[in-house]
Amino acid sequence: MTQTLKTKVLIIGAGTGGYVAGIRCGQLGLDTVLVDGGDGLGGTCLNVGCIPSKAIIHAAGKFETVAKAAGGGTLGITAVAAAIDLSQTVAWKDGIVRKLNAGVAALLKKAKVKVIKGWAEFADAKTCVVKTDEGDIRITAEHVILATGSEPVELPFLPFGGDVISSTEALSLSEVPKKLAVVGGGYIGLELGIAYRKLGAEVAIVEMADRILPLYDKALTDPVAKWLEKHGVELHLGARAGGFGDGKLSITTKDGELLQLDADKVLVTVGRRPRTQGWGLENMGVAMAGPFVKIDQRCATSMKNVWAVGDLTGEPMLAHKGSAQGEVVAEIIAGHDRIFDPVTIAAVCFTEPEIVSAGLGPNEVAGRDDVIQSVFPFAAIGRALAIEAGEDGGFVRVIANKGDHRILGIQAVGQHVSELSNSFAQMLEMGAVLEDVAGTIHVHPTLGEAFHEASLRALGHAIHI
Ligand SMILES: Cc1cc2nc3c(=O)[nH]c(=O)nc-3n(C[C@H](O)[C@H](O)[C@H](O)COP(=O)(O)OP(=O)(O)OC[C@H]3O[C@@H](n4cnc5c(N)ncnc54)[C@H](O)[C@@H]3O)c2cc1C
Repeated sequence: MTQTLKTKVLIIGAGTGGYVAGIRCGQLGLDTVLVDGGDGLGGTCLNVGCIPSKAIIHAAGKFETVAKAAGGGTLGITAVAAAIDLSQTVAWKDGIVRKLNAGVAALLKKAKVKVIKGWAEFADAKTCVVKTDEGDIRITAEHVILATGSEPVELPFLPFGGDVISSTEALSLSEVPKKLAVVGGGYIGLELGIAYRKLGAEVAIVEMADRILPLYDKALTDPVAKWLEKHGVELHLGARAGGFGDGKLSITTKDGELLQLDADKVLVTVGRRPRTQGWGLENMGVAMAGPFVKIDQRCATSMKNVWAVGDLTGEPMLAHKGSAQGEVVAEIIAGHDRIFDPVTIAAVCFTEPEIVSAGLGPNEVAGRDDVIQSVFPFAAIGRALAIEAGEDGGFVRVIANKGDHRILGIQAVGQHVSELSNSFAQMLEMGAVLEDVAGTIHVHPTLGEAFHEASLRALGHAIHI
């Protein structure tokens, strides 16, 4: 027999968009039901995205350090030999994921959110049926928050299965492939490709554009390209992948040459698409914006009291965007006057070295003579040299209005620069001018001093260059 349930707020999807919306709804005293059919609370980010990928990247970095020490020594440190049992690394990573799954469950419980495990299918905008192990539950709600996220794009000639894998399988391999071919040179492919190179795999990257990470400006991606070259990663730019069989991936190079790349595994990372199929979205009467659900500045869809957050709503498909939208929607439902209108959503590539971009980049201000651009290299920062982060061509760049010195954009490339991303976003969000950064005493010795110096340099009086 089908159970029925009525609630004020129904959230579909417990990723970073949905579960944060759930916690905030609970905090605001809204009667809330959260439905997710996946294996663990936290969605893509927590289970097969941000967190597990950063864990594997961290382990790969540790292995690389030991391997360096074994291969002739570094910093006066030598080791006898480096070895890795990837299944143990994956078990350690799974432990982190489980701990975070439990943490999200505890937070939802504390906020008095009712969590239902099962797949939801909508018959109309406010009613869905959830298939659970205990039977079907029909839920009607005053407000529905759609947070169904995204899934990896599959290439028809390279369907997932066997040795053709998506990022999900790449995060749970039992051994390091001898030869890994990565199709797609965006951030997910590069983060994982670099990690596997550090773990000892021979890696080839096949990218259709004429450079890696085409969404970032070339100066930011050059240090990553240099790392790939120095570490023997085979890069095929302007190339198209074809089929895979008998351990060989066919590609057509930029010059039209047909090549067969040896590969034990082919990792396809050609993008992600919003999860809009198979759960009755078409019965809800919401308007679409291309492949995404169309929303306004309140994250409202075209159907009254149906809201959408996260990857389902468009680029940038980043965890922190979905969470921020989730908080806004919960507060609007509770009667607060809110809109989702960030000055910036900073983006980070956890490559080697890392890249951060917040606000306007040089391509967006190209041709404007009313802006100042200033760069400060990590090679001139003591802390960077002291942690071996000064010699890979990294820098911080600040872009500001020439007239009032308001900061328009901040980018960085270098080791550990992900940790500077929030300081960049805060300055942009608070409408800082160059003098605000220049007048903030930055702690010595830290990598953040490069941001201070880049701002001083834009004002014409950098100290350490
Ligand atoms: C390898 C990788 C690395 C990444 N690294 C980063 C990073 O470093 N930083 C960053 O910001 N972002 C990163 N991302 C992107 C990030 O994971 C996503 O932007 C984020 O998870 C999107 O959150 P979401 O809430 O929109 O959806 P998701 O996290 O995709 O969650 C959607 C949830 O909805 C559930 N669901 C869907 N349909 C239904 C239904 N009909 N019924 C019930 N449940 C349903 C699913 O089970 C899922 O749990 C990465 C992604 C990948 C794949």
